[in-house]
Amino acid sequence: MADTDATFDDFLPEALRFHSPAPLVDIGANLTHDSFAHDLEAVLRRARAANVTTLIVTGTDLAHAEQAVALAQRYPGLHATAGVHPHDASRWDSGLAAAMGDLHRRPEVVAVGECGLDFNRNFSTPEEQERAFEAQLGLAVESGKPLFIHERDAGRRMREMLKAWRDDIADAVVHCFTADRDTLYGYLDLDLHIGLTGWICDERRGHHLRELVKEIPLERLMVETDCPYLLPRDLPAKLKGRRNEPALLPWIVREIAHWRGYGEGELAQATSDTARAFFRLSSVEGPTPTGHAQQKES
Ligand SMILES: [Zn+2]
Repeated sequence: MADTDATFDDFLPEALRFHSPAPLVDIGANLTHDSFAHDLEAVLRRARAANVTTLIVTGTDLAHAEQAVALAQRYPGLHATAGVHPHDASRWDSGLAAAMGDLHRRPEVVAVGECGLDFNRNFSTPEEQERAFEAQLGLAVESGKPLFIHERDAGRRMREMLKAWRDDIADAVVHCFTADRDTLYGYLDLDLHIGLTGWICDERRGHHLRELVKEIPLERLMVETDCPYLLPRDLPAKLKGRRNEPALLPWIVREIAHWRGYGEGELAQATSDTARAFFRLSSVEGPTPTGHAQQKES
């Protein structure tokens, strides 16, 4: 992709107009978040200008998953996940399970999730979280689609639950991995994928990840912004609004490449190859333009 018609607008300062040497897949973009409602098309244009060509839009509950599907229908290069986040697990019931199962049959939905366990905040009780997660493991088996997993302070229980299901589920990625070495190796032993965010760009709390990143096999590693959250702390310029967005993913990739002792272009290419295989995306970049706010492919 030597050239594209996409250009940056004035929103990002010059120093934040990155361009990945290889097309990137952002596997975690919360584009249905309210903060994107007023300028989503500009956000998508900037992503394309940064050579972030494929976005997996996270669906964290029924309403947001339906919105993610709608975005995937409307914009080429966007795909959706559909799940119930552990924070909302208390709302899990048979009606929700059926609605999720319907969504998982849609071609726009490329993963079951975001689902999992979060014992850090316990907005739903651990019991409610395990019940909703177990049910979504079952839905992943039914659909044959990979899992997009959230885990915070629940690594041991997560590994136990996944172990019981591992032979039946397809692939699974633990998104925004921030845990310790033991947890990492536990996940790798279960043949899981690891998603890394700009957490690694935070010298206060991402320090351990800078060591660990060398130990994640290249074919297990994918990258994500988790936008609008987790704006990288060490960006070379201030960003008004402090909202993270997909166009900033090349900075995170550069940082991971640095700590991994690897070339940025090779890492970009490898994570994108892994993501396309994981989410079973076509290897051809960007679907046929539909005529709606579409940047021409080069
Ligand atoms: Zn998450």
